[in-house]
Amino acid sequence: MSIILILLLIIAVILGVPDIRRKLISKPAFKFFKRVLPPMSNTEREAMEAGDVWWDGELFSGQPDWFSLLKTKVPTFTAEEQAFIDGPLEELLAALDDFDINAHQRDLPEEVWALIKKHRFFAMIIGKEYGGLDFSAAANSHIVSRIATRSLTAAVTIMVPNSLGPGELLTHYGTMEQKQYWLPGLAKGDEIPCFALTGPEAGSDAGSIPDTGVICKGEFNGEEVVGIRLNWSKRYITLAPVATVLGLAFKLYDPEHLLGDKEELGITCALIPTKHEGVEIGDRHYPLTQAFMNGTTYGKDVFIPIDWIIGGQKYAGKGWQMLMECLSAGRGISLPALATATGHNAQRFTGAYAFVRHQFGLPIGKFEGVQEAMGRIGGLNYSIESMRRLTVTALCEGYSPSVITAMTKYHMTEMGRQVMNDALDVHAGKGIQMGPLNYLASTYMGTPISITVEGANILTRNLMIFGQGATRCHPYVLAEMEAAANEDEDAGLRAFDHLLIKHIGFAAGNTFSAFWHGLTGARFANAPVSGETTKYYQQLSRMSRGLALCADVSMLTMGGDLKRKEMISARLGDVLSHLYMASAVLKRFEDDGRQVADLPFVHYALANHLHAIGVAFSGFFQNFPNGFVGGLLKFLVFPFGIRYQKPDDSYAQAIADAMMQPGVARERHTFLSYWKDDAEDVTGHMELAFVRMHELQDVYKRVQKAQKKGTISSNLLGAELAEAALANDVLNAEEAEQFGECEVLRMRAIAVDSFANDEMKEGKFNAKPI
Ligand SMILES: Cc1cc2nc3c(=O)[nH]c(=O)nc-3n(C[C@H](O)[C@H](O)[C@H](O)COP(=O)(O)OP(=O)(O)OC[C@H]3O[C@@H](n4cnc5c(N)ncnc54)[C@H](O)[C@@H]3O)c2cc1C
Repeated sequence: MSIILILLLIIAVILGVPDIRRKLISKPAFKFFKRVLPPMSNTEREAMEAGDVWWDGELFSGQPDWFSLLKTKVPTFTAEEQAFIDGPLEELLAALDDFDINAHQRDLPEEVWALIKKHRFFAMIIGKEYGGLDFSAAANSHIVSRIATRSLTAAVTIMVPNSLGPGELLTHYGTMEQKQYWLPGLAKGDEIPCFALTGPEAGSDAGSIPDTGVICKGEFNGEEVVGIRLNWSKRYITLAPVATVLGLAFKLYDPEHLLGDKEELGITCALIPTKHEGVEIGDRHYPLTQAFMNGTTYGKDVFIPIDWIIGGQKYAGKGWQMLMECLSAGRGISLPALATATGHNAQRFTGAYAFVRHQFGLPIGKFEGVQEAMGRIGGLNYSIESMRRLTVTALCEGYSPSVITAMTKYHMTEMGRQVMNDALDVHAGKGIQMGPLNYLASTYMGTPISITVEGANILTRNLMIFGQGATRCHPYVLAEMEAAANEDEDAGLRAFDHLLIKHIGFAAGNTFSAFWHGLTGARFANAPVSGETTKYYQQLSRMSRGLALCADVSMLTMGGDLKRKEMISARLGDVLSHLYMASAVLKRFEDDGRQVADLPFVHYALANHLHAIGVAFSGFFQNFPNGFVGGLLKFLVFPFGIRYQKPDDSYAQAIADAMMQPGVARERHTFLSYWKDDAEDVTGHMELAFVRMHELQDVYKRVQKAQKKGTISSNLLGAELAEAALANDVLNAEEAEQFGECEVLRMRAIAVDSFANDEMKEGKFNAKPI
């Protein structure tokens, strides 16, 4: 006992007396920290430092403040936004015919372009003083999601000017003259913008673009001015084929020192009218059958005046920082909106189809195998919509959360891909035969586009989420890095010493709490609510402690190597992401007023996220470079093993049943899914058939019973079946008529398209339902 007391006393003295602590602990730790610090390029540092930390920081702290999360207000629409959603948005949606756009027009029809311009769909992020709509992130997300449920081509066309590009860059960095010159035209749609960063040699590694701008003197409008001679070759650029203004990213050099001492100024962004001499807009690409404009642009020795740099000369070389600071809209709103559309459509139409499509005398949604897929669709769609809302909430609160938007982009598009695969499997041939009657195929084809753009997903998962999260969300690491980078060694050491003591306390607290929660199954962890969801809050708090502990130990033992150990760091990123998604699910359940009907979805989603956390931790422990440390961490976080199970089958079955049931719960889960109130349109027709079959359920049951008994033949269909049911007194005259009409609806709801062979060979797709 006295030895322990002496040891504690020694530790207290070492830690408590600043001079001793600095000499024995902080100084060697400072040196070690400087040595293991990952080497960072300027572009990496700018990416790392861009943006804010929000709920992700809480999750990384090991002690998420659930009350503060639940207190955060859900954003609502202004009267103007609501009027736009009810008016111009509905008008646009009704005018969209996605099959016609992609198969015939290979462009949006003239009247759709006209509607987009008339209602200023391109101006959601432009301020009112320039004629823009100045909508919130919530409205932007709602509008793009809903358009994407109708047409991916229209959604991509509209989302691009409303995310990273000329409009946003001008709004944040443009000079007054630039704003006044460009923004009114962009708001009206007279000017069509595109933004060109990617080229053949620079995709994910956009910081290494080979396109150059050299400061020199040249002639502009008959006068000699200081400007930039540009050379570029870009590809994959959305809207480039129709753009009137090109946002261009290039590396700027000043070999003659016309601007100052520096020769290499770095990445710079300029705005160039596409009709400017030397600007070449090349041919179109053909992105997975989608008709949105996407293509190439080139320029050789194109001279532009220096004040075409966005923000003017003072922003020369600041392009990368500007781009990193403006990533939130694209990553947090636009691409997630495409995934949201997939989720809402998949749930709505798969539920309807699984009810109207019968096999072996039963709706296919009654078969367990199909229910498993439907469970995934409903469960993941609950997570998709929850994540959309939480991220939009952060944006509406004024944050620009870089880690959260990276998580949102990656996981929503991945969940969207899973949901779409399941929807297609349930629809089988109906999902494969393309034509106006196929409401899935276009989105299915286009799904990899969201996976690829704004940070291809493999890179986003492996480099961005944890790579940035570990330093940005950790309460001390970024400040410690700044202290280590301080050129004044003494000041750096003092700051480091101060942080280190807190960091040690933080790590010790996490180790103890992670182990304690592991031993007790988190029974004593705090939860802000009581009821069915309490246990999830407790488990998430426990996993948050585990993440904080494992992240600290990884950074301590691997240092700069952790950046290259993508498979290790990505798994910690997965833990952070699933903690975020599970938080989003819990918040949505509360915000929606704890709907009992939503409980199977909530249980499914949360079990799924906890299971994914367990899988990520398991891979992390198994592959930790030092086996002993990996084993020790596993023991501390999961002393009794990893026990998070996949969602129970009963939840999948309950979800499948709910998806096949019309009513308020279905509307709540799929409210962004557009269906046209017109029986001629496939979406309106599917709704009609689905609802009508529900109304006639009793009639259908009687006919099926009679078929089983052999009273009427099982081989009859449609009108003949209705007649036989009437003739055999199974149905009365009125019922037989209703049944016959409903069968016509049902047959049409399961129909697919066919095309004349000769016409199809000529590229004409005049569809006939079959
Ligand atoms: C339809 C479409 C529209 C687009 N619109 C625009 C636009 O308007 N403007 C614009 O500038 N660009 C645009 N892009 C470009 C898009 O942003 C790039 O395609 C994207 O950055 C990926 O580049 P890449 O295709 O060259 O893939 P690559 O960079 O070659 O990547 C190939 C694979 O390697 C992975 N990878 C690369 N490096 C790493 C790493 N360090 N760790 C782990 N994985 C890694 C990537 O995740 C990817 O899976 C568009 C692309 C498409 C397809």
